[in-house]
Amino acid sequence: MRIRLVGLNARFTHSCLALFCIRTELERHCPAAAIEIFQGTINDDYHHTLLRLIEGPPDALLFSAAIWNGEPVRRLIGDCLRLLPGIAVVVGGPQAGEVGRMLPPGSITVVRGEIEAIGADFYADLLAGRLRSHYAGSFLRLPHKELHFPYRDEDFRLHLQHRHIYYESSRGCPFACSYCLSAAEKGVWHKGLEQVFAELGEILRHRPQVVRFVDRTFNANPDRALAIWRFLAAQGGDTLFHFEIAPDRFSEEMFAFLATVGTGRFQFEIGIQSTNDATLAAIDRRIDPRQAHGLIRRLAAPANIHLHVDLILGLPHETKETYLRSFAAVFAMGAHYIQMGLLKVLPDTPISRHAEAMGYLHCSDPPYSVLANRWLGRDDMAALYWFGECVERFHNNRYFVSLWRYLRAGGEEIAGFFQELLALCHRQSFFQLAATQELMCRLLCLHLAGRDDEGLIRDLLRYDWLRCGHRFLPPCLGLEEGREQPEATRDRLYRTMPMAVAGVYDLGDRNHFFRKAFCLRLSAAAAARALGLGGADDGADLCFTARREESLFRFNEVMLF
Ligand code: SF4
Repeated sequence: MRIRLVGLNARFTHSCLALFCIRTELERHCPAAAIEIFQGTINDDYHHTLLRLIEGPPDALLFSAAIWNGEPVRRLIGDCLRLLPGIAVVVGGPQAGEVGRMLPPGSITVVRGEIEAIGADFYADLLAGRLRSHYAGSFLRLPHKELHFPYRDEDFRLHLQHRHIYYESSRGCPFACSYCLSAAEKGVWHKGLEQVFAELGEILRHRPQVVRFVDRTFNANPDRALAIWRFLAAQGGDTLFHFEIAPDRFSEEMFAFLATVGTGRFQFEIGIQSTNDATLAAIDRRIDPRQAHGLIRRLAAPANIHLHVDLILGLPHETKETYLRSFAAVFAMGAHYIQMGLLKVLPDTPISRHAEAMGYLHCSDPPYSVLANRWLGRDDMAALYWFGECVERFHNNRYFVSLWRYLRAGGEEIAGFFQELLALCHRQSFFQLAATQELMCRLLCLHLAGRDDEGLIRDLLRYDWLRCGHRFLPPCLGLEEGREQPEATRDRLYRTMPMAVAGVYDLGDRNHFFRKAFCLRLSAAAAARALGLGGADDGADLCFTARREESLFRFNEVMLF
């Protein structure tokens, strides 16, 4: 029997762990079957994908359906059934039920729950060509739980090259947030540490660029999380590891260890969702925002771990004021990336059962994005959505890092700052344009014009711009009249600097250094803000070199002369 497993990823660099897990189970239960893995993306040409799916043709197609690919999966299944009448089609994954509801009754098989928990009858029925329309199972309810390593050596060449590797060291989540499909079953099962270390060792032999742990709350058990982090750090290499963590499960030992991790090796995603107590209680998320604040500030201090925090727009009891307050609180924490996603009112989640009572209006099709609720009318919801888009464009990159640090340190009323910036963006049709760093610099300059600290901030913008590797200043960041221009600064430094500076240039490459460097005389106030320099009373001479530094944002190196 020829079985093709199909996953449509959001982008090429992603991979679909579910396919490898299904293959593992099929190999155990149907050893004679020929199993193929097919990974495409939702952006691929539809017709190419369809023709590749039916090539052969296979005897059975097994699809993985998620919220973001449910519609293309449904469409492909419909056309595969038309092209290959009688083929067995099975769909599993979080969106399987919805896909099944949209297709003619009895035309496909829907698997609910985890493939490892589906009984042996599923495999017997598949081989015998008599699949029922539904199978279900729950991994967490199995009396004997076991997860096998899903990858084979050849996968890293055939299916995983240049892609992120997804790895699962635990199943389940200790929380039950009311908007999440994982809320259906509370509890966590962990793989044994020896198994985890052996499997990670296998993966790391292939030197992947990125390994993403899919554990819903990686640090549900802090000691175990620390043991895995220690193991990973001890392996060396350049792989980046991504973890979803909860802010309330950290120990002093963990902080001490994390401060020693190589820059850029770990990346944390931390779901805050809201800092409004009534909202957190309503979604059953028992996390203390003050604790989260302390955690993120501490994690951010060594500047070696990329920190990504999430807020959700459209949660119960979240008004415009509380949402903006949540944003301001999260901004103050100092995370590098603030994701402000719309709530998705997913079928079968606790929140969907109370949606009517809470006045929820949401899109009728996946991903069921919220449009309004009792606390936020249509217009406020739309305004806050654009607010989040403004934050996404301006904050969530490496373009203006010094500016945000300055505003944070000065206690800026940041929600108001972004609301005014958003109004300017709308007036300038920003969201219809390519969001280049230069355009955003121009808008920030317009937005900041007339402030007492305008000159200082313009210098910070120049500093950030040049650290991103540009070798010129755009018109909006041109130096004010009376200031020494960059060419003059370079000439002066070339004339006055020693013939060799240890670790920077020597006699042999002095000319090359000054030819490649961009020199800027920064104001005293900005030098103090950007570089923490006291005593630079007349300003500071900076040389931005062509070399990249080993920092989270891989900025160009800057020398202070
Ligand atoms: S912590 Fe994450 S995975 Fe767990 S229930 Fe909440 S949203 Fe879902």
